[in-house]
Parts: sequence; structure tokens; C-alpha cells
Amino acid sequence: MIVFDLQCRDGGETFEAWFRSNADFEEQRDAGLVQCPFCQSAKIAKAPMAPRVPRKGGDNPLARMAAAQAEMLKDSRWVGDQFADTARAIHSGEAAPEQVHGSATLEQAKALVDEGVPVAPLPLPVRPPNQVN
Ligand SMILES: [Zn+2]
Repeated sequence: MIVFDLQCRDGGETFEAWFRSNADFEEQRDAGLVQCPFCQSAKIAKAPMAPRVPRKGGDNPLARMAAAQAEMLKDSRWVGDQFADTARAIHSGEAAPEQVHGSATLEQAKALVDEGVPVAPLPLPVRPPNQVN
């Protein structure tokens, strides 16, 4: 026995029904034996699968985090692997103050923290702009 998510094509209601096989379902549906339990319509189709995937944005914590990070980096300049040198130059006053983000090795990040350069890891990996298609 297999269970199908079915959808009434008249009222749009979704419901589950058990069949011996897919062929059994098609046979019963074609004979008008599969009926909507809500309105008795026999116009029944399989409901689109994957109804339990979270919608974009909405209540998805990862999407919320990504949106927050994008907002945070809106005015920030991507400096790639020059991040450590750039952050150090800004901190020492050699470069004009601005918000930058880029990539750094763990050693570089530790060294920056040791030198008192204010850096923070980003919650999510950033795709370098030159890799965005
Ligand atoms: Zn119905």
C-alpha cells in the first residue's frame, strides 16, 4: 500500500488516500472512484510533492540570517584576501576609514585580534563578487 497526497481540482482541498499501487490509483481515478472527501468531486489529481519545504524568507532562520548579513554588508567593500592588510591599514590610520569585508586565514584573524584590530567573523560565508554570475 502506498499513500498519495491528492488534490481536489474543483475546490483545491488536499487529502491523503491509500492505494495498492500507482496503477491502482490511476484506475480508480479514471473510473471516478476517487472522490474529494470535502465536496465529492471526482476531479482528483496528485498534489505537488514537497509540501513541507519551508518557503523562501518567511520563517526560515537561515534566510533571515542571510538577509541580515546582506543588509550589514550593504555599505561594506569586498577586499578579498587583502582583508588582513586592509583592516590593519584602516586601524593604524594609513587608509581612510571604511567598512570592509573579505577573507582571512585563521592565523591572520588571530593576529588582527592580538593587534587590537576590530574584526568579527561573518555568520555566513560570503561569495566573492567576482564569483557571482
Ligand atoms: Zn473538493
